[in-house]
Amino acid sequence: MSRPGKIARLLIQSLFKKPATGNYPVDRSGMPEGFRGKLKFNAGMCIGCKMCMRDCPSEAIEIRKLGEKQFEAQINLAKCIYCGQCVDSCPKKVLEITAEFELARLDPAQLKVIFNDGNKDSPKG
Ligand code: SF4
Ligand code: SF4
Repeated sequence: MSRPGKIARLLIQSLFKKPATGNYPVDRSGMPEGFRGKLKFNAGMCIGCKMCMRDCPSEAIEIRKLGEKQFEAQINLAKCIYCGQCVDSCPKKVLEITAEFELARLDPAQLKVIFNDGNKDSPKG
């Protein structure tokens, strides 16, 4: 088949194909399975072993002791590469990956997020 003929065939085929892209931000129907977004830290389950810190390739997570069996995590969303290694390394399944991806902030300080009660997080003050 000649090149113009091949192009015409591809054009006609593409008219009937489902688009490969989504209509974001109008359509927010969710991310595909396996997507790695913002981390979540369930503070009450943490034992402070710091395996997550040890294995993080970008030094994006810091675990701090607050008191007896009480820990908080600071995650630098600007340094995190969303690899999920900390989730795999944690022996207590304290860390989870969520599908949250709209993380851009004008102030870089807002990307240092402190988790200290399991479900809520707050930018570093
Ligand atoms: S690896 Fe898990 S249990 Fe250990 S400090 Fe990190 S979050 Fe806590
Ligand atoms: S997802 Fe990867 S880069 Fe981000 S804190 Fe965990 S180990 Fe570090």
